[in-house]
Amino acid sequence: MSDLATTCPYCGVGCGVSAKTGEDRALSVAGDPDHPANLGRLCSKGTALGATVGLEGRLLRPRIGDREVAWSEAIALVARRFKDTIARHGPDSVAFYVSGQLLTEDYYAANKLMKGFIGSGNIDTNSRLCMASAVVAHKQAFGADLVPGCYEDLDLAELVVFSGHNAAWTHPVLFRRMEAARARGQRHVVIDPRRTDTAEMADLHLALAPQTDVRLWNGLLADLIRRGVVDEAYVAAHVNGFDQVRQALAEDDQSPAAVAADCGVALPDLVRFFDLFAGAPRTVSLFSMGANQSAQGVAKGLAIINTHLATGRIGKPGACPFSITGQPNAMGGRETGGMATTLAGHMDFAPADRDRVARFWGAPNTARAPGLKAVDMFEAVHDGRIKAIWVMATNPAVSLPNAGRVREALSRCPFVVVSDCIADTDTAAFAHVKLPALAWGEKDGTVTNSERRISRQRALFPPPGEARADWRIVADVAAAMGHGEAFDWPTQASVFREWARLTAYENRDRALNLSGLVGLTPAGYDALKPVQWPVAVDGRGTPRLFTDGRFQTPDGRARMVPVQPKGPASAVGAAFPLSLNTGRIRDQWHTMTRTGLAPDLCRHAPEPFVEVHPDVAEPLGVRDGALVRVQTAGGEAVALARVTDRQRPGGVFMPMHWTDAFAPSGRSNPLIAANLDPASGQPEFKHTPARLRPYREAWRGFFLSRQALAAPAGLDLIWRRIPQDACHLHEFAGRGDEAEREALRRRLLKGAEGEALAYEDASAGARREAWVKDGRLDRVLFTTTAGRLPPRDWLAGLFAEDILPPEARTALLFGRPLGAPVDNGPVVCACLKVGARQVAGAIAAGAASIDAIGRATGAGTNCGSCRPEIARLLAAQNPTLAKEQSRAA
Ligand code: SF4
Repeated sequence: MSDLATTCPYCGVGCGVSAKTGEDRALSVAGDPDHPANLGRLCSKGTALGATVGLEGRLLRPRIGDREVAWSEAIALVARRFKDTIARHGPDSVAFYVSGQLLTEDYYAANKLMKGFIGSGNIDTNSRLCMASAVVAHKQAFGADLVPGCYEDLDLAELVVFSGHNAAWTHPVLFRRMEAARARGQRHVVIDPRRTDTAEMADLHLALAPQTDVRLWNGLLADLIRRGVVDEAYVAAHVNGFDQVRQALAEDDQSPAAVAADCGVALPDLVRFFDLFAGAPRTVSLFSMGANQSAQGVAKGLAIINTHLATGRIGKPGACPFSITGQPNAMGGRETGGMATTLAGHMDFAPADRDRVARFWGAPNTARAPGLKAVDMFEAVHDGRIKAIWVMATNPAVSLPNAGRVREALSRCPFVVVSDCIADTDTAAFAHVKLPALAWGEKDGTVTNSERRISRQRALFPPPGEARADWRIVADVAAAMGHGEAFDWPTQASVFREWARLTAYENRDRALNLSGLVGLTPAGYDALKPVQWPVAVDGRGTPRLFTDGRFQTPDGRARMVPVQPKGPASAVGAAFPLSLNTGRIRDQWHTMTRTGLAPDLCRHAPEPFVEVHPDVAEPLGVRDGALVRVQTAGGEAVALARVTDRQRPGGVFMPMHWTDAFAPSGRSNPLIAANLDPASGQPEFKHTPARLRPYREAWRGFFLSRQALAAPAGLDLIWRRIPQDACHLHEFAGRGDEAEREALRRRLLKGAEGEALAYEDASAGARREAWVKDGRLDRVLFTTTAGRLPPRDWLAGLFAEDILPPEARTALLFGRPLGAPVDNGPVVCACLKVGARQVAGAIAAGAASIDAIGRATGAGTNCGSCRPEIARLLAAQNPTLAKEQSRAA
């Protein structure tokens, strides 16, 4: 086994991973105790990395249409089609859509080709969907996209405000760090319409009405001014715009009662928040997708930043506004120019910047204007302005709003290139050319996390098949387009050095400066330790920005910007009375192309679901656990109802992860209106008017098989695939008649071989069928029109048996295990596979703390991501302990 330090590929925390590899791509991982971001911890997703590095579903050779081809043929075709399109229609007729999954070196190469040598600004990253509003707010307030703080500030703060940030699920390792600080007395306030696990554990939860954040933060600032908490000396020395903001605030009724009423929160709670904020000079305000994914995302970011600038809570230990990124290298993309709105190295399209970059690249055709942002880019594909697009390491057919229109756009586009490590993503279905890229575990380069920390991601395995690094693929296409000299990098280290040199080039005042890394030798690059930029010439990093009160504006002063509250872009009404909010869940990542490979990560929330308040569900006849139709003006999805008072009565929540490969009817993004923030172009994923209707299936069932199956075409079915350890579980439901149920049965059992076991109970409309081949269980099909279906875990477990035990055959026909059936309930702890019923049993047996439950069941003793959920179960079963335990969690 060899041992390497690398970085987790999932969220913006950027945890260091100690990886041990063995034969046949065996991999075991642990948190790297020396990495400053996580100090040895990993969450459930990071812990399961070893289960995601197999070659199942990988794209291993270039393909043109359905034909595998040599790299030379694929590269020549891509280069020729891009060159021809540019020659005929100009540089803006082509585009790259890239990803926060790319390494910095990949991003740098793609941006250099598009903006420098093709001469168009048309490269945008999927970080547009997560972070663009924060980027614009930073630029307006600080003069550049600069994240002021560092993770140490989260340890040092007296108060942490989570604004639209369910850190317990989206950034679990950082949340664990803040839980530890909370045990030392730190206070937590959560601003979120949902009572998330983060909110559940907090000292105060403000369940504000959708899109009222600006009103809330403006109200806070007005209150701080009234109380005299403004840091007059700091404002006088370092901030412009305070008077304009104060005047703008005076245009609204800023009394706490008016603010509380507009935000839909209780007045005492609002006042408590104002008191906490006023009394905590060391405050960190975290903001993430809940703030950014809005048609007023920039205003939300500015409202938060205004409050920190007015109180001088920035550039000091434990005090800053802190935008947390969703993806592992969203920051790298923002730095290198992966966004259409920046050129490179935090230089924009102003003539002096543009000429500097053009000189550095030796590229006189360098773009002179920003390109199209993500949603506009696919609109341009749809209407034919863009005629060739290259999608790198992302899945816009799933992840963009109004995803049905994106699919239509891709299907119309004359030339679509997809470079990805996965062969059959929803987007790859539209590709004319597919280029095999390296996956995590094979890539080698750098990423930047949310605190500006550059870390090495290291190759653990050799490239499989003919897969290549993304930067290498870009360089090969660039060479075939006639730009070989500018892309003649022998290694990723040489790409990084060039990138570092660009940041330092003619740099008099740009904070993004890697001058200390310009001279890295290949060995120095290999051994590079995590470091936060700016990196001084002596190699020292910079944990905290603005410590001297100097910002990157022409006069060095920060800018407060007046922002006015606005309602959501589309108001709810009689037809669509609910606000649909979408987001992530604890154990899945993006479109599940990686986490969907790890059965352990599919147990906590196996299927698409929609959370709805009981007051909404009951009159509609929506039952907990039943299928429900979620409808918006954009389309319909079907998901399992979770009836819960953790959701505000006027809103519903759906996760964003499911795709055609896992649950074609459960995709949330086709429902989302493409309402954008006018400045950042970021879509309003957190609010679309919606309604619910019961699905009312005529029959339902499940099918277990050793192969993963796609939803059978041509049948009116709700279909979900859930990977298991030794098989795949396919859940389905239909509203068709008996003939349709029989048609499905025939499709699923086509080619079944071996011994058939079958039982039919006509009175319950139930059928149970199983096939045993060579002594092993091969397929299981259970359907029913009315009766209950048995727990699936037991049946899925039988697929792991080399020989099906005789008693299992009888049990199969009975439809339940002999003896007492074991149903551990929904999984709480993904790492140790502990279910809610086991946790409940431990509490009933006297376990009175999270740690005691851990000792009894193992739950929460590995990564700790499930500890908030355990606290919630404990609180529900034993309310008197609730507050005490949440503090200890
Ligand atoms: Fe990976 Fe989890 Fe760390 Fe995020 S918190 S980087 S997903 S281990």
